[in-house]
Amino acid sequence: MSQFDFDIGIIGGGPAGAATAAYMARAGLSCVVFERELFPRPHVGESFVPSSTRVFKDIGFLEKMDQAGFPRKYGAAWTTSGKGPVYTDSFEGLEADCHVGIRFEEREQPGVDRNYTFHVDRGKFDLMLLQYAHELGATVYEGVRVQSVDFSQPGQPHMHFTIGNKHISTSVRLVVDASGRRTLLGNQLKLRIQDSIFDQYAIHTWFDGFDRSLLTNDPSQVGYNFVHFLPLTNSWVWQIPITETITSIGVVTQKKHFAKSKQEREEFFWSCVESRPELAAGLRCSEQLRSLTDEGDYSYAMKQICGDDFVLVGDAGRFVDPIFSTGVSIALNSARFASRDIIQAAAAGNFRKENFHTFEMTLRRGTKNWYEFISVYYRLNALFTAFVQDERYRLDIIKLLQGDVYDEDEPKVLKMMKDIVTQVEQNENHIWHRYLGELTANAFKPIF
Ligand SMILES: Cc1cc2nc3c(=O)[nH]c(=O)nc-3n(C[C@H](O)[C@H](O)[C@H](O)COP(=O)(O)OP(=O)(O)OC[C@H]3O[C@@H](n4cnc5c(N)ncnc54)[C@H](O)[C@@H]3O)c2cc1C
Repeated sequence: MSQFDFDIGIIGGGPAGAATAAYMARAGLSCVVFERELFPRPHVGESFVPSSTRVFKDIGFLEKMDQAGFPRKYGAAWTTSGKGPVYTDSFEGLEADCHVGIRFEEREQPGVDRNYTFHVDRGKFDLMLLQYAHELGATVYEGVRVQSVDFSQPGQPHMHFTIGNKHISTSVRLVVDASGRRTLLGNQLKLRIQDSIFDQYAIHTWFDGFDRSLLTNDPSQVGYNFVHFLPLTNSWVWQIPITETITSIGVVTQKKHFAKSKQEREEFFWSCVESRPELAAGLRCSEQLRSLTDEGDYSYAMKQICGDDFVLVGDAGRFVDPIFSTGVSIALNSARFASRDIIQAAAAGNFRKENFHTFEMTLRRGTKNWYEFISVYYRLNALFTAFVQDERYRLDIIKLLQGDVYDEDEPKVLKMMKDIVTQVEQNENHIWHRYLGELTANAFKPIF
């Protein structure tokens, strides 16, 4: 009889944990998932990018996604209430329409045979994916919170949890932490570093009957996710279709704006929304379905995302600001990259840190690119808007927005944008200087 209860023990049954479990089960490894909640449960992070499709295809889940009736997302759009500058080589500062949109089909994406991705009700999506992992052979326990992992016996970690008043422990060969922003191992092993640059704060809820065409003149964009900029530094509203009639709306701002306002959550949410009167009018005519939920302090990195006998995937390993709907795609793709290394490590019978090097390099490269793209966006918003509209750069920007961030150390378009931001920062007389956001230039230096 084996000295281990399971090959792989996974903490958390969200997208990162469930996808890892699906990969493990398909590879014939025994695995157990412990999920503290009872699914379905609500969760933020409802709009995907197309690089998620590769994972759905890999694990055989794409057909289920297509049949589930989730709204299809063909593109994304950004709106402002006014006009802004456009990029020209001579920086003449022309006025541009600040309503921009992209369609994913504009760039052919290797390994992705759909011109759409999905918006989802996370309660339903997460349940489906976890059930699918179970169908493939993963053992799943819901309502079980892992309390700690004992690594004192090299090569045989023990996961500790409580059921009722019984303390139980399970032995595995490798622990995968997919506990999301609770970052169980990140906290236990003191790996977590808070991001001092991004201090964003979000308040969100669902509305029924909101007219999604109110802020666009283009009917083909009604099913997109929208980012509506607010006339408040680094602040925006997301608009994400959840069903035919339900729309998720979230206000994202700097935490200090909320603190300074001294308002209650509800009052603050509405005062932000009122700064885009057409949006506020549309929301006032619809029905708020849930009470407001808030999320704060969510940007951080980890000193290590793998070690002897453990790997961190999804939010448990890194969280970058959600402006480009990145989180679930990172969660799924981190499961994809980690699984390749785990399967090889299992075959070699060795789960030491050096076996997860490829996973670590690939994931760090991708999250660094996302982080820098997001930093450019917040630092000089007009540059993003201008580049999207410029045919010289549009496809390279769409590549990033599709979630294809893992194959280049420094995408050319990103380098160019960073260089322009630096020029603008260094020249107070630059025509764009006054458009600089409040983030510092350090924002380009990823914390890890
Ligand atoms: C404001 C905001 C907006 C966002 N918008 C988007 C978006 O539009 N698109 C997008 O793709 N992403 C978005 N995200 C990010 C997205 O929510 C996450 O990246 C995604 O959910 C990560 O998946 P995960 O599986 O790593 O973690 P989670 O989905 O959080 O899953 C982790 C699971 O682990 C369980 N767990 C935790 N601790 C334990 C424990 N000790 N024992 C057992 N189980 C445990 C939890 O209950 C949970 O179910 C947003 C995030 C924020 C904060």
